[in-house]
Formats: sequence, structure tokens, C-alpha cells
Amino acid sequence: MLVLDCFFGRCEKPSCDGCLFKPVRSLRLFLKSRSMERFEEDSVDTEEAWKKEVASLIGSKAPDSKPSSAKRKKRLLAPREEIPWFPTINPDLCNGCADCKVLCKPGVFEPGPPDPEGIHRPKFLVAHPYQCIVLCDRCVPICTSGAIKLPPKEDFEKFVEYVD
Ligand code: SF4
Ligand code: SF4
Repeated sequence: MLVLDCFFGRCEKPSCDGCLFKPVRSLRLFLKSRSMERFEEDSVDTEEAWKKEVASLIGSKAPDSKPSSAKRKKRLLAPREEIPWFPTINPDLCNGCADCKVLCKPGVFEPGPPDPEGIHRPKFLVAHPYQCIVLCDRCVPICTSGAIKLPPKEDFEKFVEYVD
């Protein structure tokens, strides 16, 4: 069960240092990263890509996936600081796995203060909200704890013009 907890990012140990399952965590991050790179466009359904990676790893059939949308270049129609598109993290659900920080290229996430009792890993914070790419939603499925939320996409389409 501990291996599965590690693989799915549910482990609550304060640190991976010295843990025998470190390679399992590396494998998880590698697979998630590969899913994200394969579908670089920001409207990709990363959850489906991640499910496919897991299914191919365990040799089962992946659930039918929705076709990913075409890669499109975008231009913002308002200054970035006037567009409140960024994630929020529910601290009650965050287990400090750091997958969001590792896999969000713009660097939106940072660890919060250390656990005063030194038992749990630091929970993560949305430290740089305006570095978030408008309409990107990759981190939501990346967070297997379900701690990351984004506002409804349809409310933000008006801030974006597709230029290709
Ligand atoms: S928000 Fe999610 S992905 Fe990020 S550290 Fe917390 S549990 Fe992990
Ligand atoms: S939605 Fe924002 S915070 Fe999440 S992965 Fe994309 S750029 Fe990073």
C-alpha cells in the first residue's frame, strides 16, 4: 500500500530523503511530465494523458479519451494582473507532494512554511498567481489529492484572442 501511496502522491511522510520508494516518486513525476510534454498545448486534457500512462504501465486498457484540441497561439486582451485566472490550493487536501511545483513550468507554486511539529511536509502555496498561463489547467489533474482548483474556463475566454 505504501508503494501505491507514493505512486499516487498520497504519502504523508515529511520528506522523501532516505525513503526506499524515492525511485517510485521519480517514476511518477517522469510519467506525469511525459504526459504534459506530449501535449504541450494548454487546453490538453492531461488527466486523460496521465490515465493512459498509468494504464500502459500496468498493461490495462486506458479509458476512451477525448481528442485533444489543436495547439493554438493566444494573445491576452487585458493586462495579466487584471485577469484573475490562477489556481487555489485547499490546504486541507494538500499533502505537500510537490508535483505541482515540479510540473508547472511558469513557477506558480512554492512550498509554504514548515510543519512546526516536523511531521508533515510543507503544504504548497500559490506564490506567483500572475505567472499562471490564462486558460491553462494542467495542474488540476496533476494534483492527485484534488487540492487544486481553477475558476470556470468559460468566464475567461473573453480575455483571450487566438492568433493562429
Ligand atoms: S497542491 Fe497537490 S500537487 Fe501540489 S503539493 Fe499539494 S497535493 Fe501535491
Ligand atoms: S494552470 Fe497555471 S499554475 Fe497550473 S500548471 Fe498551468 S500555468 Fe501552472
